[in-house]
Amino acid sequence: MSRALGSADMRVANRALVLRMVWERCEVSRADIARETKLARSTVSALVSDLINAGLVEDRGAGHSRGGRRPILVGFRDDAFTLLGVSMGASHITVALTDLRGKVLDASKVSLDVRNDVIGAIETMFSLVDALLDGQPGARERLVGAGLAVPSPVSPDASGRLSALILPAWRNTDPRSALEKHIGRPVWIDNDANLGALAEAWYGDDPGNDLVYLKVATGIGAGYFLRGEIYRGARGTAGEVGHTFVDPAGGQCVCGLTGCLVTLAGSGALLRATRERLTPASGSPPSSRLHGGDLDLDRLIEAAIAGDPVASEVMADAGRYLGVAVANILNLLCPSRVVLGGSITQAGDRLLEPLVTTIAGRTPLTSREVPVVISTLGLHAIARGAAMLVLQNALRDIALFPALRDDTTTTFPLAAGHA
Ligand SMILES: [Zn+2]
Repeated sequence: MSRALGSADMRVANRALVLRMVWERCEVSRADIARETKLARSTVSALVSDLINAGLVEDRGAGHSRGGRRPILVGFRDDAFTLLGVSMGASHITVALTDLRGKVLDASKVSLDVRNDVIGAIETMFSLVDALLDGQPGARERLVGAGLAVPSPVSPDASGRLSALILPAWRNTDPRSALEKHIGRPVWIDNDANLGALAEAWYGDDPGNDLVYLKVATGIGAGYFLRGEIYRGARGTAGEVGHTFVDPAGGQCVCGLTGCLVTLAGSGALLRATRERLTPASGSPPSSRLHGGDLDLDRLIEAAIAGDPVASEVMADAGRYLGVAVANILNLLCPSRVVLGGSITQAGDRLLEPLVTTIAGRTPLTSREVPVVISTLGLHAIARGAAMLVLQNALRDIALFPALRDDTTTTFPLAAGHA
């Protein structure tokens, strides 16, 4: 028997239901809300009034008639509040300010050694966040909260604590609490691949369907979006694909084991393999545009795209190793699609073609029709997914939206279009 909801609980639940519907449709009539939610017309009117008072929806005038009187539409105000998405990678911090539709209003990125430079990373995160919030008039006052993506599993018992195994320097630092204190608004934290999956599920090419997002960068991790939710596993460590065993030749991993996927296809492994190919133990060095100068991932990717033989071979090897991992995911889960993201995927077909060929040879029963594609959401995908984590929570509970002062209701420039 289900627990009976009190009338106050019921109102909160129904308000969330109506808010979610208006967000999904962008514009909808009160009559359609009543019909689809099976709530009384008077109840819907009262709930919509609550949402109008909170500044989240507004009357938009008459819509098209389907016979009879033209219905009055209420519309969701995408620009009523702002969301922050912070993506902390192993070697970069990316921050995006979005509206309530997830449209990026402003974003910035700084490369730094997040893994080892804890103080520098926290200070950089604060200054990037402040610059975005101060750069848009009203953005700080209208901020709902922030989502924080981290390159570590997030334990449900100690959210904010990063894995001491993967990021030992962060042992005593809780970046979620630090950011919450800094911005004075709630902060939600999740693993970066999970938030990449969330961004793809909301904004990718096939929204809503099951998918696996594979982040391929310094680390390698998977996010599972299954049946409308991120699947995190019992301890929050689902998707640690980077630490699955691939090849004993992979060498020592940060996790303490050997032969993990990340030791063969993570960015550190790719740079190491490139150096080894450029200076072979015997024979003459191969011709390559990568001789001389500093070697970094951007240069390697650029060379691979241009068809440099050494860079292309390194990417092809990485593609084959990732293909083994993706084939395993298909055999285990068979999602509707697999989306690849992260810095290494900028190599495009140089990585994707050997990857797809490998999958075809290792998925005897799984449908070969499952698309495996590179994300089209661009560099801000994970930061955007982090902002969506805020929205996902706030759409369930309008108390999370900051209360509006009368004087900001009419003067907020971002809302001017609907004034
Ligand atoms: Zn490992």
